[in-house]
Amino acid sequence: MKQKLLFTLFTLLSCTTIFAQSENEIIARSWLEDNKHELNIQDNHTLDMQFSRVGLSGETFRFYQMMNGVQVFDAEITVHVSNGKNVTFHASTYDSSIETISTVPSISEAQAFEIAKTNINVQGDLSFENKELFIYNVTGSTFLVYVIRLEPKEAPIGSWEIVVNAQTGEVVSVIDRAFNHEDNKTEKDKKRKVSESSFMMANGIGFVYETDPLTATTSAYGGQYVDGNDATNATLDAARTSVTLLDITQAGGQFFLTGPFAEVVDFQSPSKGLFNQSSSTFNFNRQQDGFEAVNVYYHIDKSMRYINNTLGISLMPYHYNTGVRADPSGQNGADNSQYLGGSGGSGRLTFGEGCVDDGEDADVILHELGHGLHDWITNGGLSQVNGLSEGSGDYWANSYKRSLSLWSASDAARNWVFGWDGHNVCWNGRTTVYGAQYPGGLVGQIHTDGQMWATTLMEIWEDIGREKTDKAFLEGLGMTNSGTNQQNAAIAVRQAAIDMGAAHGYTCDDIQAIIDRFTAQGYSLPAYNCNLSVDEFAVNAISIFPNPTNGILSFKNIKEEYNVAVFNMLGQKVKDQTINTSANLMDVSNLATGTYFIKFNGVDTVLKFIKE
Ligand SMILES: [Zn+2]
Repeated sequence: MKQKLLFTLFTLLSCTTIFAQSENEIIARSWLEDNKHELNIQDNHTLDMQFSRVGLSGETFRFYQMMNGVQVFDAEITVHVSNGKNVTFHASTYDSSIETISTVPSISEAQAFEIAKTNINVQGDLSFENKELFIYNVTGSTFLVYVIRLEPKEAPIGSWEIVVNAQTGEVVSVIDRAFNHEDNKTEKDKKRKVSESSFMMANGIGFVYETDPLTATTSAYGGQYVDGNDATNATLDAARTSVTLLDITQAGGQFFLTGPFAEVVDFQSPSKGLFNQSSSTFNFNRQQDGFEAVNVYYHIDKSMRYINNTLGISLMPYHYNTGVRADPSGQNGADNSQYLGGSGGSGRLTFGEGCVDDGEDADVILHELGHGLHDWITNGGLSQVNGLSEGSGDYWANSYKRSLSLWSASDAARNWVFGWDGHNVCWNGRTTVYGAQYPGGLVGQIHTDGQMWATTLMEIWEDIGREKTDKAFLEGLGMTNSGTNQQNAAIAVRQAAIDMGAAHGYTCDDIQAIIDRFTAQGYSLPAYNCNLSVDEFAVNAISIFPNPTNGILSFKNIKEEYNVAVFNMLGQKVKDQTINTSANLMDVSNLATGTYFIKFNGVDTVLKFIKE
């Protein structure tokens, strides 16, 4: 296993010219090698590093479990390498209990697809389909399966994952993988057929709710401020805010709600079109469907710009190469909203109607977007353990609402999630002042339990501010995978803040505030002594000299004893010796000319040198 890992590693390395990333990958792979017993990695499995993400806190690598070249469903080891070149966090859903089975299917992908469609009784067209072969070990036995994902335009609404045994055609599992904002709510992606030459960006204007009519006016639900079966009135009209719709698309004499960060699409019933028009002024009232389209576009665009431009975190959907796609009138008209994502899904948002139209409440929009952010930053590894993704969506909505400073600290509605869609006769909504403690207070309902996570993050938000909390939240989620519970996510968020450190404005007081809030909530965090500047110094201090060399390498700033191993570009260990404060020289005169890597035992840092 060791040889295999290192061989793959250095083969990859020799093909790339970006050394910085490769160095991180070496660190991640050597950490895996050092910890293969703890991780229980089996000899007949390989790990395929298919995805890495560079963020503010370092680089996260995702190693997917494989057998005979077929990926094991939902099984990965995630390794985070900090800016200081240390592995500071890992998460594993690696499955050591996979049985050895044939990886040659007996039925075709097309046959499995038909079996899947029949199983869920698809009515009308599909707006999305995906088919992949996996090794599947979720139900106690190991099967070769096709995982078929279907998103019907009309019914059944959802993002259906049908697992079909690739040998027998038997249906192993049927799950709706859509992420709902409530406990219970197709595309012919109407493509614009316009020539590229007639396409340009322009700014438009439109009316939105910021974040909803009650928040905009600090009013309570009731009187003129009621849903009234989607009817508008002068009071609800006055609660609108006029905003600029940045970089929308002008094509063929029409303006489309399509920009670099968001795109209105129409893939689910009811089919209400794209709301394109000849004017760049999108002024609607709430009883017009165009209002929800503008509101959805604006809030997604604003949130994605904030992440990518203000926070400096590069984050876009991986399912497609456009802005976030959202259908403002979907769900076959039902009162629900969904994120149709996760690995294998379409990565789109859809908003339903019934009671308050979901697209009228930025809390619903940002909650669903929050599922997307969680999905995209983990490359499909988002977790619902303890309702982590639900709580993350609620946090994202409340973090934004609170940043507007419209409600005062004494207003209960300041802590509400779904302040217009819920907290009324329609349904109860949720809150970020949820009282239960982790883990004893978990009730096993993801939307309810997620409130603990959102509540604690908002407490941290009050202590260290919005941007630092949002950055630690996103970077921390980016280190996690589908098996991560709330407690491990808390550890990841703290680690993200530590790894971003002083360079991103985090102080030891900030870290302590994070620790105090998480600990008070009941999460158990490993001990940590904050000394951000010194840690960084220690990691960077070890160096080798001269480089390149033709004889002796001298190790600088060695403060303790290390076993040091030298690897060539083929991953073969060519030399090892002990280095300490008094014996800090290594003779490399007998090594062939070339590039080598030095690894210290117990340290994830790798140094490179060139032998002349
Ligand atoms: Zn949700």
